[in-house]
Amino acid sequence: MNPYTIFSDIIAGRAPASKVYEDEDVVAFMDIRPVTPGHVLVVPRVPARSLAELDPALGGKLFQVGQRLAAALRTSEIGADGVNFFLADGVTAGQEVFHVHLHVVPRKPGDGFGL
Ligand code: 5GP
Repeated sequence: MNPYTIFSDIIAGRAPASKVYEDEDVVAFMDIRPVTPGHVLVVPRVPARSLAELDPALGGKLFQVGQRLAAALRTSEIGADGVNFFLADGVTAGQEVFHVHLHVVPRKPGDGFGL
């Protein structure tokens, strides 16, 4: 099955995205349909379709970068009062893009996002 999705194009710079962080393992960019302002996706460079395909060390890296972004979302102009992490693994879980990604969703009181 083809492991390449729009996220591979974004990572390679072939498709536009607002990147907020990148290193040798992961890229983070703004979600095109944010559920709240500042909603970021953290994506491994390797096109793992599911958690089962993801090296656990990279899973740790996704979380580590997510932690740093969560701190930044609280202290930046986004002014998050809280943060949700979310990862959909599989169709039944609501996964739409089959390249593993961690959602980092800044929260404010009354923002209307129900998780
Ligand atoms: P999933 O449902 O797979 O967990 O989430 C996929 C996420 O990717 C959605 O929140 C969706 O808005 C986002 N997304 C889909 N296509 C694009 C795109 O082309 N660019 C960006 N920046 N985000 C995308």
